[in-house]
Amino acid sequence: MVEIQCPHCEDEIELEDGVFGLFDCPYCNQEFEWEDDESLLSNPITIFVKIFLLSTSFIILVVFVILLFLFGGDAIVFTPYFLLILSPVLIPLALLPSCIYLFRYRIQKNIK
Ligand SMILES: [Zn+2]
Repeated sequence: MVEIQCPHCEDEIELEDGVFGLFDCPYCNQEFEWEDDESLLSNPITIFVKIFLLSTSFIILVVFVILLFLFGGDAIVFTPYFLLILSPVLIPLALLPSCIYLFRYRIQKNIK
């Protein structure tokens, strides 16, 4: 059981473990939303997407900085083309850290 506080009347409400979504408060009958931190924030898919977006933006930044050294101010124009040409290499590269995370996550789950 999880004990939470109603955001409207601030009464204590007991919820089953692992449930989340919209609920009606038994005291004030107002609707409130309860998001399970455990399943939403530490969801492996959410983290997978976060790591992927992070590595993608990092790679874009690195490509841009390299082009900035090569072409100066024109780098802004060239960056999208270079990303497009290099995408067969860059996309797997961007996926790699998230795959490593998912792989490690699975190993951890198997141990437990
Ligand atoms: Zn309430």
